[in-house]
Amino acid sequence: MKSLVYRLSQSHPQYLYIQDEIGRIEAGDKGEEVIMFKLDGLNLPYEHYIFHNLNLYIESHIQIDTLIITPYYIMIFEVKNIRGAIELRQNPQQLIRTLENGEIHSFNSPEAQLEEYTHQMKQLFQEQGLIIPVHGAVVFAFASSYIKETSVKTKVLLRNEICSFLHNMKVKESILTVKELKAMKNFLLAKHRHYHPYPLCQRYKIEMDHIKTGVICEVCGDVGMQRAYGRWRCHKCGEESRDAHKQTLREYAWLIDSTISNKECRHFLQIDNVDLAKRILMEYSSQKSGKYRYAKYVLPI
Ligand SMILES: [Zn+2]
Repeated sequence: MKSLVYRLSQSHPQYLYIQDEIGRIEAGDKGEEVIMFKLDGLNLPYEHYIFHNLNLYIESHIQIDTLIITPYYIMIFEVKNIRGAIELRQNPQQLIRTLENGEIHSFNSPEAQLEEYTHQMKQLFQEQGLIIPVHGAVVFAFASSYIKETSVKTKVLLRNEICSFLHNMKVKESILTVKELKAMKNFLLAKHRHYHPYPLCQRYKIEMDHIKTGVICEVCGDVGMQRAYGRWRCHKCGEESRDAHKQTLREYAWLIDSTISNKECRHFLQIDNVDLAKRILMEYSSQKSGKYRYAKYVLPI
């Protein structure tokens, strides 16, 4: 995603939004790590499985931060990585955050999403002939989150509360047998799909001609290395490389498309030699479809 930032003009209307999004993703990764670490120390007196970042397609595509399956209940954690004073408002459902300097931001409510995920998870178990309670909670991952006011509807937890919350879950008779639980674990793992948001230009509605073309220098980050005598040379820092085009083709796949023609390749690498482009693509791509000038090469992501 960072490749989008240095290939996009700073004056592009989406530029700041994309930079923001990168910050959010990085914070998100950290927050989820914190929760994973906390749950590592979880010692429930009964069999259970914990999943992180589970991507499933049930009624729609859902991405569950943390899922815990036990013989008694299913628990979904929606992890939020928002610092500051937090308020979950109803009608409309909104998450309002106030920073120390008084700045106020509003976010989509995690409650609506949690409700939707709970419903879909119930559905998934039901389809397997298993009727089991599905619970959910919104978890704030950062110690610096301060919950001002919460909704009465949704359980809200701070990260250091999650283990005791799970220990205090009331359990009576088990609903799933150990065998059924294990089968569900395998079923969920098989249903999990690696989700990727590519190509990014399509996702963020950026026209291709707003993307800077050229081979990127891995040393100084300048875009536009020149090809001469079988090497790429950076005119800014003087770095020379034999295979700098590989990273650039990877970026093409992330940003624009997972297949590329000879002409598109020449345009993106800024070269005019048809045979050179062909050689590069034959070597880099694992698969080709179509013939002659209609040939498209598949770029691995
Ligand atoms: Zn350079």
